[in-house]
Amino acid sequence: MTDSPLPSDRPKAASSAALRLFRPVLFAVGVIGLTFGALIVIHGKQEPRPPSSPAQSADSGPPSGTPAPDIDAAGTLPEPPSAPPLTSADFQGFQFKPSEPHGEAEQPASDHYDLTLRLERGDTVEKLLADIDVAESDRKQIDAALRTLLKKRRLAIGESIDLQLQTLPDQDGPRVLSLSIRPQPEREYVVTRKDDGSYDGQEKVYKVSPRIVRVDAVRQGSLQQSATKAGAPTPAILDFIRALSYDVDFQRDLKQGQHFTLLLEQLVTSDGRVTHPGRLLAGELRLTDRTIIVMRFRPHGGAEGFYNPKGESVVRSFLRTPMDASHITSRFGMREHPILGFSAMHTGVDFGAPVGTPIFAAGSGKVVMAGPNGGYGIFVKLQHTDQIGTGYGHMSRLGPGIKPGVMVRQGQVIGFVGSTGLSTGPHLHYEFYRGGHPVNPLAQKFAMRATLGGKDLAHFKALARDYQSQMKNAPHIAEMPPPALKQKEATAATATSGG
Ligand SMILES: [Zn+2]
Repeated sequence: MTDSPLPSDRPKAASSAALRLFRPVLFAVGVIGLTFGALIVIHGKQEPRPPSSPAQSADSGPPSGTPAPDIDAAGTLPEPPSAPPLTSADFQGFQFKPSEPHGEAEQPASDHYDLTLRLERGDTVEKLLADIDVAESDRKQIDAALRTLLKKRRLAIGESIDLQLQTLPDQDGPRVLSLSIRPQPEREYVVTRKDDGSYDGQEKVYKVSPRIVRVDAVRQGSLQQSATKAGAPTPAILDFIRALSYDVDFQRDLKQGQHFTLLLEQLVTSDGRVTHPGRLLAGELRLTDRTIIVMRFRPHGGAEGFYNPKGESVVRSFLRTPMDASHITSRFGMREHPILGFSAMHTGVDFGAPVGTPIFAAGSGKVVMAGPNGGYGIFVKLQHTDQIGTGYGHMSRLGPGIKPGVMVRQGQVIGFVGSTGLSTGPHLHYEFYRGGHPVNPLAQKFAMRATLGGKDLAHFKALARDYQSQMKNAPHIAEMPPPALKQKEATAATATSGG
């Protein structure tokens, strides 16, 4: 982008040689129909052919009938009354220049060039322009146009400023034809010089759409290192590892050379810049004895999570404490009962918390009891599987819609902390049942999964088929066109992508 030399680096005496060098470029421009480019090709025709084209030497003379105006001493071109038509001779000896990867065309004439500058600490755009000797009146106009565009937004240190410049025969400093700043991939601020010499600001907003890509890799080193090397963004890799962690013993199951695939959803602007490096949609890990597939899904009204292809949540455990910010006031086991005064089995765990603190379902399941229950006060019992249930006592009141027979999701509010029944103060008495018998909730190694059902399951199955097919067929991340990300943007995108 900055391959054109600065004007001060370009000796004026060498301008005809420079013109020769630019001829292939000028040719390409002429072909795409820019009048100015076409003009220069004609003007440059008097120059000898480049030595690398010996085949052209036989007919390298100027075609008859074509005017060949002189180039003045400063290397600038006189303005002819009209552009002469191109002839086939104009195209001889030239090769098409390969197009730039992102369509940033070469400037149409040797006095136009691109320059990218970066803001450093203490810089302003005006100061940068002053550093390259842009005329003060232009700097002021550009600065004003930019201020209007940016409103109060500040440009970050390291922000790059893309300039299209033009050298002027009678001035040391270049003229700014356009200035572009793109603080975010989807937003560009452009200040352009108009024909009357004034500057005009414009904000360009690029449409952002999702794009699904795949990362296919073989484990060499750690799973995370291998995925990073294959191009996956860190938050997506961490999601994958977390989702696998319920099923994979990373010490024993993982071996070098195991194959894995990540399916990512990137966000890309209409001109191909990646604004989000990729959120994990699904992942597959091939272990020696089994293949683990996890897929992101959000059940209706529920939280997003990862599921196996059967529609079972990868999360196997119950909520360890069915309440936020609670502390244990009494553990499971024999104790002297604070009210009854004799030693008895405490069949649950007590969590102290203020009245009204919401109590969550420790796992998804069915409400089998909800209401007053003797010493338990207002009590809810949930059945999660045939074998496993949980109970919640001393509530001040039930959660909305909680009654026997309804289904609840893990984390749903089933009631609020109180001190009903045989209780000395507000707390939750939490019980855990295996095969109908209370066991210590804190000692359980749970083996139960939340499972999708009904419409959720139907939606999930359709999505799962799609993801599994895309994990084989989606374009590989490395096959995508270069994301055209500046490092700064890549970092920002990673930082905002969360987990
Ligand atoms: Zn208790």
